[in-house]
Amino acid sequence: MISSPVVIAIDGPSASGKSSVSRLVAEALNFRHVDTGSMYRAFTWKVLESGIDPKNRQQVMDLIRKVRLECDFIENEQGGLRLRTRLDGTDPGAVLRSPKIEAHVSQIAAIPEVREWLVQRQRDLAAQGDLVMEGRDIGTIVFPETIFKFYLDANPKIRAQRRARDQNEAGFAKAVQVESVESAIAERDHKDSTRMVSPLKVADDAIRIDTSLHTPQDTADIVLKHIRSHYLARK
Ligand code: C5P
Repeated sequence: MISSPVVIAIDGPSASGKSSVSRLVAEALNFRHVDTGSMYRAFTWKVLESGIDPKNRQQVMDLIRKVRLECDFIENEQGGLRLRTRLDGTDPGAVLRSPKIEAHVSQIAAIPEVREWLVQRQRDLAAQGDLVMEGRDIGTIVFPETIFKFYLDANPKIRAQRRARDQNEAGFAKAVQVESVESAIAERDHKDSTRMVSPLKVADDAIRIDTSLHTPQDTADIVLKHIRSHYLARK
């Protein structure tokens, strides 16, 4: 038997398809969906909103002590449950996906005290029941003991096209160029995979999936097939 609560860990670099796939998998299993990137983004928003220089580690640490972080679950448009992160009572919303947040989030996420604080919250969420959790270090650091680990990746050009399309649809800036998105993604990947604490890397026991030529539904179906075969194999 698989012990409860069950955590499905889905890791990978930016725009690898993690969010759409995680949402679909969570809905199919009736699990809650936790996008841990949105927690790092929300705190980055709070740092910038407070006028703190993201390079000033001491001030960032002081903010951790002062800020009220609330994590709960709300219904998404498809009726599934997704994480909502509020800081001092505010859910920053769509601005979390903006190029400005993207430009600073990796720097904030590299601060060990920020990670310790948010990783603890992520573990607490699993104490409340089964979930699909997506991020960079879920299978390696947050829940290394889960048997359900997936690592999604895609060709950098395709990832840049996906992210440029998302940003253009969100209307943050006029006509975001794929080339500039590609270099911003490459820079963020570099920072995320070379940082000292919990760098982005593939867990030894993760199933790797290249999503370049798959729709999110195709990838979700592959993930679900693995999960179901594991369940059946262990019953
Ligand atoms: O997944 P997303 O692109 O929203 O993540 C935003 C940033 O948050 C990443 O580039 C990374 O710096 C940080 N992050 C992290 N660990 C996670 C999730 C996100 O360091 N588990």
